[in-house]
Amino acid sequence: MRFFIFLLVFGLYPLLAHAGSVEIVPRAIPAGGTALLRWNGETPALAVAKYNGRLLYLSPQASGAVALLGADIDAAAGSYPVSVTVSRASGEIETFQSFIEIRVASYPEERLTLPPSMVSPKAADILKRIGRERAVLKDLFSTSTPALLLDSVALPVRDPVSSPFGLRRILNGKPKSPHAGIDFRSPLGTPVHASASGEVVFSGELYYTGKTIILDHGQGLFSIYAHLDSLACSGGELLSQGDVLGKVGSSGRSTGPHLHWGVKLRGDRVDPMALMSLLAEEKP
Ligand SMILES: [Zn+2]
Repeated sequence: MRFFIFLLVFGLYPLLAHAGSVEIVPRAIPAGGTALLRWNGETPALAVAKYNGRLLYLSPQASGAVALLGADIDAAAGSYPVSVTVSRASGEIETFQSFIEIRVASYPEERLTLPPSMVSPKAADILKRIGRERAVLKDLFSTSTPALLLDSVALPVRDPVSSPFGLRRILNGKPKSPHAGIDFRSPLGTPVHASASGEVVFSGELYYTGKTIILDHGQGLFSIYAHLDSLACSGGELLSQGDVLGKVGSSGRSTGPHLHWGVKLRGDRVDPMALMSLLAEEKP
């Protein structure tokens, strides 16, 4: 028996030491959640993951390489395969299989009744503008710096939350798209801080979100700051975590001063607070 254990430990040792492993933390997330994918082993020449029909490059770190995995707020529950292909400096290539579990999320619901005239219809030129802006944003969210630029997320303001992530609004009996961000009840003019370091990829005015700033944090991760009163940075600027990017306002489709803070990961709408706690616990 002792000899068998000896064989098991020392016989496999060279293999294990070389192999490395793929880790996903946490293994199960709700729709709207995020997880950290980590390759533990020698820093690879290149590590590419395949998840949910997309290819993602892991960013090299001292311990191996990392990438963020996300589940859209409307993602279907189930077990999603994740494969990681590692190319070593020696030229050796190996693929590791793993999976992530996406659970149904239970987000709060809010029923509102408004006079139909306030809900729709919209003038043709407004619909045209909305369509144009949607295309610009889709384009913007589909391109990103390959390296992950952030290692932590901080709150953009220190005010109470007035509307949580995922809130399902049912307007006149018709479900609207879920709330893809967090609203803070911040007074007009409150400085808004960059929640992480990144590049300003949008600074302008949009129909729904009014004066808006979008930061690119790499690996398809973006943060969005909406309904601002004024914009304090312009496209192409590099911001550090905590830098003031604008002031709280009520621009766009808004009924009063507040900050809407959202995060997109490869086009998926994810919970900024959940990402903040994940990175606080699991330093990438
Ligand atoms: Zn909002």
